[in-house]
Amino acid sequence: MKIIQKPDEMQRQSREIRCSGRRIGLVPTMGYLHEGHLSLVRLARERADVVVVSLFVNPTQFGPSEDFERYPRDPERDEALCRQEKVDVLFCPASSDMYFPEASVTVREDRLSRGLCGASRPTHFCGVCTVVAKLFHLCDPDVAVFGCKDAQQLRMIERMVRDLNFPVRILRGPIVRESDGLAMSSRNVRLSPESRRQAVCLYQALRRAQELVSGGERRVEVVRGEVVRILQQTPGVRIDYVELVDEETLEPVETLTKPVLAALAVFFGDVRLIDNETLVPQAATGGFFRSR
Ligand code: AMP
Repeated sequence: MKIIQKPDEMQRQSREIRCSGRRIGLVPTMGYLHEGHLSLVRLARERADVVVVSLFVNPTQFGPSEDFERYPRDPERDEALCRQEKVDVLFCPASSDMYFPEASVTVREDRLSRGLCGASRPTHFCGVCTVVAKLFHLCDPDVAVFGCKDAQQLRMIERMVRDLNFPVRILRGPIVRESDGLAMSSRNVRLSPESRRQAVCLYQALRRAQELVSGGERRVEVVRGEVVRILQQTPGVRIDYVELVDEETLEPVETLTKPVLAALAVFFGDVRLIDNETLVPQAATGGFFRSR
């Protein structure tokens, strides 16, 4: 496995790979890798000859009062996991090499990024779009893999690629969960043991939403109300948002006439967790989660 730190070296390397006719698959991450990340690596492997994993805790996507400093980091362990997965290139740039101090150009998506997480983290998605655009220029991937765990981010990246004509195919990786249903996240390690036990309520609330829809409930407010109720009855939870939105446009909906993304964010102390699931209102599907 090649470890590259300098952006210009990464760019040279990806040009060489492309010139040799091999396909590059990129998996952008902030490190502290878990099975969710590794599932994306395996997806990239299926679709590309050379797998590049980027490992960069991107400061520009954290707000001033957010957890940039406290974000979990373990580069040695990440490196070992990447070796195990036979990753070809690990790109781990320093922040000072990624951003000029006087950088003044950013990429901003203006529609999909407004609601949900964008409402409570107003600068977050501009940071994400900008760093992903930079990673695409540096790693020059044929395909890039993003997890459905960050559903809004995924749709926004797809929109950026479409609107700015990036020559890259975006692949969606399904959410990987712990055995009790909690979506894997690097931030889970920051939960106290008690909060960790209680954090299963995110999944339980989404399952209940699914059950209601399977049972024929089509009123978004009723489904949303039940999700809120389940979260609120869990000690220690502070709800950031619970929304049911059109699964592609992320616009609010009132009735479940087509697939709806149920998305939520909650705080346990200062740890913010997100989760989502697509609810499909069709008798034929039994209302089960649709697999992607
Ligand atoms: P992060 O390191 O949290 O920025 O995540 C890097 C990539 O991994 C993003 O595309 C995430 O959506 C994806 N990811 C994070 N957690 C999971 C998970 N539990 N299942 C699938 N993908 C995930």
